Amino acid sequence: MDAQERFDRIETGAAVGVAGNVGLAAAKVAVGLLANSWALVADGLHSASDVVASALVYLGSRLARKPPDERHMYGHYKAEVLAGLLVSAIVAGTGISIGWESITSLPRPKPVTSTLPLIIALASAAVKEGMYRYTMRLAERAQSSSLKADAKHHRSDALSSLAAAAGVLGALLGHPWADPAAALLVAGLIVKMGVEVGWECVHELMDVAPPPELIREIHRALERELSEYGAEPAIVRGRKMGPAYHIDVVITADPSLRLRELERLRNRVTRCVRRVLPSADIVTVEFHPRE
Ligand SMILES: [Zn+2]
Repeated sequence: MDAQERFDRIETGAAVGVAGNVGLAAAKVAVGLLANSWALVADGLHSASDVVASALVYLGSRLARKPPDERHMYGHYKAEVLAGLLVSAIVAGTGISIGWESITSLPRPKPVTSTLPLIIALASAAVKEGMYRYTMRLAERAQSSSLKADAKHHRSDALSSLAAAAGVLGALLGHPWADPAAALLVAGLIVKMGVEVGWECVHELMDVAPPPELIREIHRALERELSEYGAEPAIVRGRKMGPAYHIDVVITADPSLRLRELERLRNRVTRCVRRVLPSADIVTVEFHPRE
């Protein structure tokens, strides 16, 4: 799968997220407000922040797929990371304000007036669990870690809705404090998610490396590929740039090789790296003479 296909996948996933969450957010906030369930409103605001998050991921991806130009000679991949950082700030901010609202309403909770919030919260949990299973199957088939992260998010959304359902049930059974207490739990889940996403983006801005087993695999593949030329990989380094990777390879080779042979070798190295890591967009190859 190349970078463009990855962008397509990210954008499709984001669009599905927006569509699903707009419906869930609207239903939960409206029913929560009508029936006095702050827990369901909090869960609905969580879905609303997911909408903003998916929309920003979509926009970031649209920007990131722009080809390199004079001002950004290595492409615009990090636009996606900046979008992620913005998302994390919005999500964490939403969580903190919901948490604050929950704490202030804990001492004087309003009684929940109907069973509808319970039904909506349970239905939302079921929808989200379904989205988790569907996305996880896709992610496993495509071996995509970003899609896996999406799937896990759907499951944490399901947990958030279950927490809201428990709060509403408690309130209906005569413990009105259960509803804002559940909202506080939902707020905690939202803040946790925002911080985790933000932390991941900070690593990416710091040029986080590909997983070490991937680097080892590239190293082994290059050893096999180059052995017949008497050349071998000395250094394999890489960094993540949004949905793509930039890989640097230093090859030690026979000092008597001609430029034309080195060029052929360089093409083999690039192809070999991309076979192991299809999202390696930029592959830089350097040759050192063997002692
Ligand atoms: Zn969420």
